[in-house]
Amino acid sequence: MRYLHRTGVSGGGAPQRTKLSLAKYGRKWGDLDGAQKKSIKKEEAAQYVWVNRHDLLAVFSVGCKKHVLTYNDPSGHVINQPCDPCSEVLDDKRFRNALRRKMPSEEHMRFAPTQYRPDTLATVWTMQMGVRQLVQSVRSRIRHFFTLHKDNDIFLEFARMAISGELKGHDALLSLVEFEVRRFQRLHAGKSLRNIQYGQPISELMNIMANTSPQCYRLFCAKFGGKTPRSIR
Ligand SMILES: [Zn+2]
Repeated sequence: MRYLHRTGVSGGGAPQRTKLSLAKYGRKWGDLDGAQKKSIKKEEAAQYVWVNRHDLLAVFSVGCKKHVLTYNDPSGHVINQPCDPCSEVLDDKRFRNALRRKMPSEEHMRFAPTQYRPDTLATVWTMQMGVRQLVQSVRSRIRHFFTLHKDNDIFLEFARMAISGELKGHDALLSLVEFEVRRFQRLHAGKSLRNIQYGQPISELMNIMANTSPQCYRLFCAKFGGKTPRSIR
């Protein structure tokens, strides 16, 4: 039933909220305070002609007799016919109008009037809002990424290991990688490398290297940049 896919209200057929609030408070819905609005919502629910059951994808009359008429049609098929009050909802002009309203686009559905969203459910909906699109976009990005880099799976694996914490204990390696990435980012953005700093673990290693084997350290610097001898304390 498309009607239930489109609307979040729990019933219909009651007079408009503005009509109810004018009758009760002599003011429009928009001018009511919180407590008054609550009261009008209850009044509205009390005047529902039909009830929407989204969990069952079914609409019942408020006067539902709680039984269905079951019979076999001439070809032997079992027909379940709703009770009389429920059948009458189908003929209700207000219900037919509600059915006729068009399905808004997903974009516009995000802006469904909040006054017709039950507060508790609204929290659940807000959490889910846009989640489907987000999941889809992330999924397609990941797929795109792996298609582009299918020959670099060793680096993807490295990234995965680094993120998942499997490289714990390899702090010098990680801080060297971190430094190199930062350095390339700066160079790429045309920024200077002034004040760029090595992380503690690799910095310590370089100090030890420079003090124990200057030759070895020079080689290291030729490959990985490294601190100038002057900045080594
Ligand atoms: Zn019924």
